[in-house]
Amino acid sequence: MTRGIRGLACLLLASIWPVLGMAAAPMNSLRGRAVDDPHGLISDVRTQLDRSGSALSAAQERALLWGMGTAAINANDDAAFAEATLRLDGLASASNDAVATAAAGFLRSRHDITNGTGDGMGEALRAADKVLGNADPELVAWARFQLCDAYTLDEKPDRALPLCRQVKGDYQALGDEWGVADAENDEGLALATLNRVDEAAKAYESSRRHFMATGGARMAVSVGDNLSQMYLKQGRAREALQLSQTSLKQELADGRISDSIDSNTDIARAMAALGEHRQAYALMKATVAKARAAGMNGQLSDLLEVESNLAEQAGDLRQALADEREVVKFENATNTPALRAIEAELEQRYAAREKELRINDLERTNRDQNLELKTAQAEAARRDEMQRRQKLANLVVTIVAVGLVLFAGLLFMLLRGQRRHAAELRAQALCDPLTGIENRRAFQQRATALLASHRDMRDPLHVLMLIDFDHFKHINDTVGHQQGDRVLVLVTDYLRRAIGAAGHIARIGGEEFIVLCPKLGAEDGMRLAETLRAGVAALALPVELGVSQITISIGVALFDGERCHDVSSWMRAADTALYSAKSYGRDRVVASTLVS
Ligand code: GH3
Ligand code: MG
Ligand code: MG
Repeated sequence: MTRGIRGLACLLLASIWPVLGMAAAPMNSLRGRAVDDPHGLISDVRTQLDRSGSALSAAQERALLWGMGTAAINANDDAAFAEATLRLDGLASASNDAVATAAAGFLRSRHDITNGTGDGMGEALRAADKVLGNADPELVAWARFQLCDAYTLDEKPDRALPLCRQVKGDYQALGDEWGVADAENDEGLALATLNRVDEAAKAYESSRRHFMATGGARMAVSVGDNLSQMYLKQGRAREALQLSQTSLKQELADGRISDSIDSNTDIARAMAALGEHRQAYALMKATVAKARAAGMNGQLSDLLEVESNLAEQAGDLRQALADEREVVKFENATNTPALRAIEAELEQRYAAREKELRINDLERTNRDQNLELKTAQAEAARRDEMQRRQKLANLVVTIVAVGLVLFAGLLFMLLRGQRRHAAELRAQALCDPLTGIENRRAFQQRATALLASHRDMRDPLHVLMLIDFDHFKHINDTVGHQQGDRVLVLVTDYLRRAIGAAGHIARIGGEEFIVLCPKLGAEDGMRLAETLRAGVAALALPVELGVSQITISIGVALFDGERCHDVSSWMRAADTALYSAKSYGRDRVVASTLVS
């Protein structure tokens, strides 16, 4: 209720101007002054009435007295209020002035409703009755506004609302923006009382805009206070806080302690709504202390009520209870049994509340412990999971390592196989498949290597023997190629064995063989050749071969470094000697030195 009165009281001067018959602009500043500086206005009116006296017209005097009366109500100046109403009564009876009668009536109505004395509403209705039939639309709007204001103040919002809206239209038609703002504020108050919060907020917002547009900054602040409460109810705590802080600044600058206490209360409530319970409670405590110091006992009950709520929210139950007790004492100062009953009820409520808080505490502790347990369980689960992953990782590493070892082994075996195969291929490339001894290429390599490493021509010299089977064509023709092959194999075996470590035999053509004997010397070379020739001639071949005897011719050449100076010349020399052996009748050995 305190806040509603503040909102209304500020606006009482809304419709001075039709009564004064002044232009809108200077009137708006006077309207503002009745709110901003009511004492100054009262004193100015007194001076003007004293000074001008009978020079003033009845309408001017009436208007000045209306201004003084409204300022008196705003300033709680009972003497000025009584003076204004009595003089308006005098004016009314002296000149039968219905407007003066209405003005006095509206002032009394306001005074009675505010103070809860007399029949304020009846007074307002009677006053309105005097002027509502008037032809002057400004006067009608003024009266209608006073009536809407009275209904709002008397907490009859259902009746106030249609009137407020009607008067808003009146002022819009008259082009009076201040009046529109006033009407919208009352509309907001009525809607707020009906708990139509969203609509009320819209009406206040519009009123605030209009006041600001027409230079009513102080009024805008006042409407802002009302709007702030709607924002709080709408859950728009931050906007509410902002508005109240703006108001507070203005009020502190104006030195309006009472209003600043209200704004501080609004700020504390907004803070609490924002969850800042401790700051809200601290601010409210300071505000209550300020109100006590300023002796604002009228407001104290409402303030204590707020403090009690905030104390409870902040957990200071002792203070909450103390505040409630004080409120009860204020409101039931004379009714002791009722006071006791309320106190008992309070005690019970707070005992229950305290128990509830203790239970909450226990539950919170339980929750905390549960949380710790769950955290520990989660940690254990996390470790298990880590260990599991580690094991898995180890297993993977082992598998990979084993795989790598196996792969390396496989690779090694493959390589070894390949190497072996390559060696076999190499060996095959150097080997004669029929007899199993070295072939021409192997001989070439061996001879080249020998000559590269042992080129000194001192005795014993290297010996080369070229062997050709005698009349082998005939053997083939007689016993067949296959048997011829067997003969070749048998003779080769003999030759190899007979040569032994003295040299290396190789098959260099069909039935042509070559024997390389490093450092055998001419004598031993000739002796070995003769042994081979004789051995073959004496070889006992198997009967089933169908070949009784086989002979060979041999050409022998020594590597002398002159006639024979490389593998080719050496072989040519041996070949020439062989040719000679054939020419001499076969089955013989011829040394190349004997052949020119
Ligand atoms: P000569 O005494 O003049 O050497 O008479 P020859 O018949 O041996 O004549 P020559 O050496 O010119 O001929 C070689 C013959 O050896 C020709 C061919 O029929 C036979 N011959 C060559 N290579 C092979 C072989 O691998 N197997 C068999 N069975 N016979 C071969
Ligand atoms: Mg031949
Ligand atoms: Mg031959």
